Amino acid sequence: MNFENSLSFAQSLDASDQFRNLREEFYIPQHKGNDAIYLCGNSLGLQPKSTETIIMSQLAAWRNLGVEGWFEGDEPWLQYHKKLIGPLAKIVGAQAHEIAVMNSLTVNLHLLMVSFYKPTSKKYKILMEAGAFPSDQYAVESQVKFHGFELADAIIEIAPREGEYTLRIEDIIVQINANADEVALVLFAGINYYTGQIFDMKAITAAGHQAGAYVGFDLAHAAGNVPLSLHEWGADFACWCSYKYMNSGPGGISGIFVHEKHHHDTSLDRFAGWWGYKLKDRFKMTPGFQPEAGAEGWQVSTSPILLMASLNASLQIFEKAGSVTALNKKSILLTAYLEYLIKQVNKQLNYEHFKIITPANQQERGSQLSLICKSDGKAIFDYLVSNGVIGDWREPDVIRLSPVPLYNSFEDVYQAAKYLLEAVKHVQ
Ligand SMILES: *Cc1c(COP(=O)(O)O)cnc(C)c1O
Repeated sequence: MNFENSLSFAQSLDASDQFRNLREEFYIPQHKGNDAIYLCGNSLGLQPKSTETIIMSQLAAWRNLGVEGWFEGDEPWLQYHKKLIGPLAKIVGAQAHEIAVMNSLTVNLHLLMVSFYKPTSKKYKILMEAGAFPSDQYAVESQVKFHGFELADAIIEIAPREGEYTLRIEDIIVQINANADEVALVLFAGINYYTGQIFDMKAITAAGHQAGAYVGFDLAHAAGNVPLSLHEWGADFACWCSYKYMNSGPGGISGIFVHEKHHHDTSLDRFAGWWGYKLKDRFKMTPGFQPEAGAEGWQVSTSPILLMASLNASLQIFEKAGSVTALNKKSILLTAYLEYLIKQVNKQLNYEHFKIITPANQQERGSQLSLICKSDGKAIFDYLVSNGVIGDWREPDVIRLSPVPLYNSFEDVYQAAKYLLEAVKHVQ
């Protein structure tokens, strides 16, 4: 598409956007009496207007039924998670029985590594992207230590080539192959949080399996953002949070994927709890853990119904939208428009103040663009915030902007770029 740098052009794109009405489903944070320009769905998605009602209905069930709420009422809590599993399975490209809704992301990463990081004295290494989200790094470090290995020896981090910001898939594959004898687990993000790069999960899974390793993904920045096909790719496991692109609220409940090929493998270790016990006999409270079939067998604790209700509100909007694949068409256009406008800003300045480090290839990115500021990054970011443009700041010099197709407009993107240009002029 031939983009134009004008408000009327942005508005014409909004007028022909089939998803434009979905914005009405969300509360948009306010700035001086107007809608803020919220480009931060990669950090905390916005609140659906239905969230409150849906949570209130569970508070009412608790108020009216007490403990009977587990079995009685319109939406018995014992089955409440079932409402979430179908939409989540669609979002990550899984079979329903490969999904469980539980805990928080880093907790789930640990639980899944209990099952899928099974180091032996020869094959004990974990291969991951350099610059992974810190929580993932800490989780991996502590798992490696727990098993008695040295961090520097047991963790292989793949970094971009000199002078580059993102990873080349061929370099990832070469490293997996080169370390095949020693790698026990290949663990990657679906999308790197800092650069916004999508990793080729299909190719990484195939290479990891070829090397005799388990392969898992952290989809924090990918779930609800880009189409995924976990089942088809054959990934062993995955986990994600739901408060970023899935709008479940701060600290919302996380989810896991365990491929069905592992559901009957009794040799896999797991840290068990009663909520993973066969549902049929869960309340007989007998000794000897027997897991529920499928990913639900990895559940540990009682379902947090209020958190699930909050996620339910957002997933209903995803269902209304149809699919992430459909939303992604808008997302690609929205992000491409932002990219075009940022380049226009540089053009107007006569030099590249904002270097986009997110891949230019639309197959290699989701909604997020990460910009390195040539100078004055923090001051520019602060100027944006004081004018109601909410992105996020990552030390030392990166601004991340994520237009989300569910609630952002082309006009949002247009205004954000306008303030970027103003900001540079302001701080200089
Ligand atoms: C956001 C994010 C997290 C956060 O983990 P929590 O356990 O939810 O705090 C972890 N990993 C990645 C890759 C993330 O993007």
